[in-house]
Amino acid sequence: MAICYLDNNATTRLAPQVLEAMSPWFLEHFGNASSLHSEGQLAALAVAQARARVGRLIGARSSEQVIFTSGGTESDNAGIRAAVERFPTRRRVVTTAVEHEAVLAPLAALERSGYEVVRLAPDREGRFPLDRFEAVVDERCCLLALMWANNETGAVHDVAAAAALCAARGVPLHVDAVQAAGKLPLDVGALPIDTLALSAHKLHGPKGVGALYVRDSSGFAPLLLGGGQELERRAGTENVPGIVGFGRAAELAQQWLEAEGPAGLASLRDRLESEIVARVPGSRVHASQSRRTCNTSSLGFEGVSGEALVMLLSEYGICASAGSACASSRHAPSHVLLAMGFEPSDASASLRLSLSRDTTAEDVSRAVSTVVEAVTALRALA
Ligand code: PLP
Repeated sequence: MAICYLDNNATTRLAPQVLEAMSPWFLEHFGNASSLHSEGQLAALAVAQARARVGRLIGARSSEQVIFTSGGTESDNAGIRAAVERFPTRRRVVTTAVEHEAVLAPLAALERSGYEVVRLAPDREGRFPLDRFEAVVDERCCLLALMWANNETGAVHDVAAAAALCAARGVPLHVDAVQAAGKLPLDVGALPIDTLALSAHKLHGPKGVGALYVRDSSGFAPLLLGGGQELERRAGTENVPGIVGFGRAAELAQQWLEAEGPAGLASLRDRLESEIVARVPGSRVHASQSRRTCNTSSLGFEGVSGEALVMLLSEYGICASAGSACASSRHAPSHVLLAMGFEPSDASASLRLSLSRDTTAEDVSRAVSTVVEAVTALRALA
């Protein structure tokens, strides 16, 4: 049975062109990018080219503002650490209740060490009116950590407004753009964002590589110590094949954005949603009134366990998720839907279908009929 893969917010398929770009860097050119010999210099050049490509995707004014890391999680941890170290006497951090664990967990650790952590709730549509930030972002804060796009609902947050507020009040802003990059045009250079996290495997690049954009590296406190790599900002031998792959993936993502790829994908996503909602009584689309990424659909089905639905869909060859991939092993209702004001029973009755530029109209038709069948079967059992 052919797999219909609709879990692209968990990870995406590596683009064949990315694999092709990575392949010489394993067996032919395996030099350490810090070595002075020709193979080392070749690797350093390849890393520099990838840095420029990733920088272009997000609109960085200089490629040196991009630091390669091991992924989105490290980048979030590093961005948070840098802000906290910059203002050691400020003891308040503001974030939202819908962030990814890669942000929530390091902030919970700060809270245990005595920081005040303010977690703002969104409205029922996953939106954050600016006054929620205005009320708590002030000179006591060493950080506002805000995701650009939510991994479960696709809700896109008003980063420009938050950045203007932070700049006006002298508070560093860290943005988790892991689910936004490659889906929305980003222009970090135009906004006063201090640090921003990216991950390659969410945009058809390899797993285990990411990047942290750092607007101004003066006084930047690295998370990893132990070597002078990445201009003294992230120690450890560079993952050259992974970085090259990320660079190529960023280039492909940019071409897709410029070719109006998101509009086509959003119309596939809209068809998926409208057909499911029309055919399944007691179903709804979460954050449908919010601006959303083009690929993400979070659906609720009254009285149906999201986990049971994911497992049944998997038997029919459809890969989906009940919430975020990281949370799915935990059997807890979605913290994102809870924060949006849904009851635990409703927050557990959700399904995330996340598309990608590989998704076809046939995938959507198959997903619609299979979801309709699976929800009906589960309700009959109950
Ligand atoms: N931030 C968000 C919003 C994510 O969706 C993810 C991955 O699911 C991460 C951070 C972590 O990225 P990585 O898997 O590269 O560590």
